Amino acid sequence: MIAAMAEPVIYLDHNATTACDPRVVEAMLPLMTETYANPTTRNHRPGRDAACALERARATVDRLLGGRAASEVVFTAGATEGNNLALMGAADALADRGRHIVSQRTEHASVLEPLAALQRRGWEITLVGVDEIGRIDLDALESAIRDDTTLISLMLANNETGTIQPLAEAAALARSRGALVHCDAAQAVGKIPVDVAELDVDLLTASAHKFYGPKGIGVLWIRHRRPRIRLMPVNFGGGQEAGLRSGTPNVPGAVGMARALEIAASQGDAERARLAVLRDRLESSILEALDGSWPNGDAHNRLPNTSNLSVAGIEVNALLASLPDLAVNTGSACTSAHPEPSPVLRAMGVSDELASSSLRLSIGRWTTEEDVDRAAARITEEVTRLRRMPTRMGRGSHRR
Ligand code: PMP
Repeated sequence: MIAAMAEPVIYLDHNATTACDPRVVEAMLPLMTETYANPTTRNHRPGRDAACALERARATVDRLLGGRAASEVVFTAGATEGNNLALMGAADALADRGRHIVSQRTEHASVLEPLAALQRRGWEITLVGVDEIGRIDLDALESAIRDDTTLISLMLANNETGTIQPLAEAAALARSRGALVHCDAAQAVGKIPVDVAELDVDLLTASAHKFYGPKGIGVLWIRHRRPRIRLMPVNFGGGQEAGLRSGTPNVPGAVGMARALEIAASQGDAERARLAVLRDRLESSILEALDGSWPNGDAHNRLPNTSNLSVAGIEVNALLASLPDLAVNTGSACTSAHPEPSPVLRAMGVSDELASSSLRLSIGRWTTEEDVDRAAARITEEVTRLRRMPTRMGRGSHRR
């Protein structure tokens, strides 16, 4: 039997993950086939060569994040592990100084869940709200910080809406009260300039697969000077990564992440400008063609590749099912059958109905004008068709 040719799919889900850039793959290959020795083994040359490659990657990552010393970089398996290590590791290390942590409601689960775990162990957690475009309320943040607040944790850019937080201002507030600052920059690094010195953070998390690097590698950047931040490890073993992340280091991954960061830095403004033009074209085509549709997030200060739209009168899973030629995501934390209204959009005051009728479109390095025009036409066509169907689950209202 001859398998049917798969339809080409337009991939608009770059905030979930990206393809590896071929230049990254090229940089990684020799580390898998030639320089494959365990970098922890220093008593033979192959081991020392692997260690050398790992340390070069570490220095590159630190420099491109605006750090001052390669030793500030701890390689992890990705942002989930980095966030867990930052929060649990800092909470443990700072427990004697205080047991109060401040974060905000639209954080990723890999921040909210470790915080919930800490709460079960007796820490007090305050989650500050956001305004209607998803920006943290700085006044609420200021009043939430107490004398026993040891840490605040804020994302730089939101994965669902692309809203960029006023992080440097928030960090300054925290610092003036003696609290450390952790930043989940998983959606920001590689998409917008991120500099740990400018943001003045103490801990920062990133993940390579969000910026055309490989999956399974990330970084927790830890400030080493003024002040030197010490964390407790959360896993134990051979003591690699300065004792903070035991396990054989992922050398190909680290080299790939360093290369991906170099490429992002070199494409910089040009890539951002190209993406913003395409994203705006995609977004305005849909908004103009469909009444009862609204953008979510900060129109002026958001990731250049991200658009989040609420489309009244559709059931988002039905829409996605009718678009097999597009890889787009819901704006919601989706369960298999019924989309739960997105907690991010809810925190921004979007109604449950609209929050569960939301699409997240995230374009990337290889998205073309043709792709966005085709995607906008297909989304408009299918929304119009679904809205005409009698079984619209009573979703008649086009009002926000
Ligand atoms: N934080 C944010 C903001 C994210 O978007 C993601 C990925 N969806 C993560 C953390 C987790 O990243 P990883 O897949 O590398 O564990």
